[in-house]
Amino acid sequence: MNQKKGGFLISEKEIKERVKAIADEISRDYNGKNPLLVGILKGAFIFLADLIRELSIDAEVDFLAVSSYGKATETSGEVKILKDLSESIDGKDVIIVEDIVDTGLTLKYLYELLKTRNPNSLKICVFLDKKERRVVEVPVHYVGFEVPDLFLVGYGLDFAEKYRQLKYIRELTPEEVKNV
Ligand code: 5GP
Repeated sequence: MNQKKGGFLISEKEIKERVKAIADEISRDYNGKNPLLVGILKGAFIFLADLIRELSIDAEVDFLAVSSYGKATETSGEVKILKDLSESIDGKDVIIVEDIVDTGLTLKYLYELLKTRNPNSLKICVFLDKKERRVVEVPVHYVGFEVPDLFLVGYGLDFAEKYRQLKYIRELTPEEVKNV
């Protein structure tokens, strides 16, 4: 992770290493269990796909789709469930997998929602953490990278549905914001 002349960047190699390290931690913590990874769409799909392939334990997958910012780069604080889980999580060891935690509003809402559904355990795993932006407290158990307050794209994170395919994370330039 560094500040190169092109702006903030997390390289493909750094991402691979970190995802493997988190997967090892989860495999240890859930040894003998079969956790359910709940990916938050759309942003978390790439992180979840890489994470599950590095696990050395069995795991199940489900997805929740929530409303995004649309074309704006600031959160409205409103969370709308666009697609709910396909099965009950009653008695399961659930890990919410999210691309980024910013104000914490989205994850706080989802954490409280899933808690009401009686899982055996509930944890949160985020790829990126913009800690300094937090407005509400949310228990984040696994973190890929702590990042500064910049608008970031790549590795599943978009801006107006672009840049998700990048294999690295980078800062969005002011010109790119203007050219939507
Ligand atoms: P929060 O509710 O924590 O403020 O925001 C979480 C959501 O905001 C994330 O799931 C993501 O969709 C969006 N978000 C926050 N910061 C960024 C960012 O730097 N880049 C992108 N692409 N999305 C972000």
